Amino acid sequence: MEPKNYMNFSELGLSQKVLSAVEASGYTTPTPIQAQAIPHVLNRRDVLGIAQTGTGKTAAFTLPMITMLEQGRARARMPRTLILEPTRELAAQVEESFIKYGKNHKLSIALLIGGVSFDDQDNKLMRGVDVLIATPGRLLDHHERGRLLLTGVELLVIDEADRMLDMGFIPDIERICKLVPFTRQTLFFSATMPPEIQRLTETFLSNPVQIEVSRPASTVNNIVQKLVATSSKDFEKREVLRKLLTDAGAIRNAIIFCNRKRDVALLHKSLVKHGFNAAALHGDMDQHARTAALEAFRKGETTFLVASDVAARGLDIPEVSHVFNFDAPYHAEDYVHRIGRTGRAGRTGEAFTLVAPMDKKSIDAIEKLIGQSIEWLGAEQSSVELPSSNTEVTGAREPRDGKRRGRRGGKGRKPGNRASAPERTETSASAPERTENVPPVRNAEQKTAPRPQSGVSSDASQLPAFLHRPVNLKPREPVS
Ligand code: AMP
Repeated sequence: MEPKNYMNFSELGLSQKVLSAVEASGYTTPTPIQAQAIPHVLNRRDVLGIAQTGTGKTAAFTLPMITMLEQGRARARMPRTLILEPTRELAAQVEESFIKYGKNHKLSIALLIGGVSFDDQDNKLMRGVDVLIATPGRLLDHHERGRLLLTGVELLVIDEADRMLDMGFIPDIERICKLVPFTRQTLFFSATMPPEIQRLTETFLSNPVQIEVSRPASTVNNIVQKLVATSSKDFEKREVLRKLLTDAGAIRNAIIFCNRKRDVALLHKSLVKHGFNAAALHGDMDQHARTAALEAFRKGETTFLVASDVAARGLDIPEVSHVFNFDAPYHAEDYVHRIGRTGRAGRTGEAFTLVAPMDKKSIDAIEKLIGQSIEWLGAEQSSVELPSSNTEVTGAREPRDGKRRGRRGGKGRKPGNRASAPERTETSASAPERTENVPPVRNAEQKTAPRPQSGVSSDASQLPAFLHRPVNLKPREPVS
């Protein structure tokens, strides 16, 4: 069926109370996923939405759910609806959405996420909840303690399913799907449809309406993207980054992505030492610290947020002017998600990716996925020798030398799982480092001509101008 082109919210079948909350939020026109999904959700159909964050998918399920919840009442320990989110931040964001759009309702909402006391959550469950928003692990913990019955769930939302897969949550999701009534309505959202996700939808959705909005690749048009050549040495990468942060233009605020949690912490420390107003966000931080870092960034008190993929995935931080990939992401889809933090809601944004010679394969995959080649800032190079030797603080006892260590070759992964087993933000204590499946280190001389000879200082005239400028650094410090 060709989707009808709904021009305003009042045509979608939402209740008056919900419509007035939408109006108060300032939104006038439904986004494509909202226009296409809301009428089906209200008709009690299962929905398979292939959409990423930034498309308005949260309201696509929140608004009809609030409308439907106007009928009926919650009972103790038996939530009426359940929303599964891969991370605590996303869960909290969905809660905010229910609060915003449910301001004319007396909804009882509970958030079951790790890092928060069981007792408070338990008290809330006891009083009966209309909307339960949970990360899978914590939900199952409550269920196993006998504090929660899932037999009253009328509607189940599985959000960011591909990220759940990345985080190893699929077995938990399967368990939860078996604990909720067979007759429930299911809304399932995923940015991509790898085979494991496809299988899940075949098992747990009943004759779903499939809605696909703007494939990830097509969402990056309003973002200026640039590749920046670096060597693979971390201290040099940090210097290139600092130069970018200083010289790249008007940076209102920026998210800087690293592939690994420990690199987030290191880079954050280094940036702060160099006088940048930066905060860190990764899965090993406790919930309080994560929330505080996010809030400070949202409010503009912090300019730079150094983050890992999982921690930042799907976060709704409007008006991020720049994204920097300190590490080229291992997975092309992560690139799309990362740069999608900027250029939201029709705004423009800029995204810079540091590229070491060994990242070439990742960049090829990214360019293939987005269907365009990304311009280099300056010339493409296999190695970069930075202009002045006095610009880097070299006292750091770096554990790494540019080569990636700790490779475990994906051992223990389930067959067919998408290639990463990144940090599991729910249970930070056991969160594995995202070191598996690191692509093999490539020889700097591999293909791509013409290039300066490996190991030889690259032609200085090919460097972007800002890399020639001297940098004012503080006196030597132990970690750079
Ligand atoms: P989401 O994809 O749910 O993360 O939403 C992305 C952003 O779009 C959020 O800031 C929403 O508040 C915003 N948004 C959602 N629906 C609309 C709409 N109909 N018009 C404009 N912005 C919207």
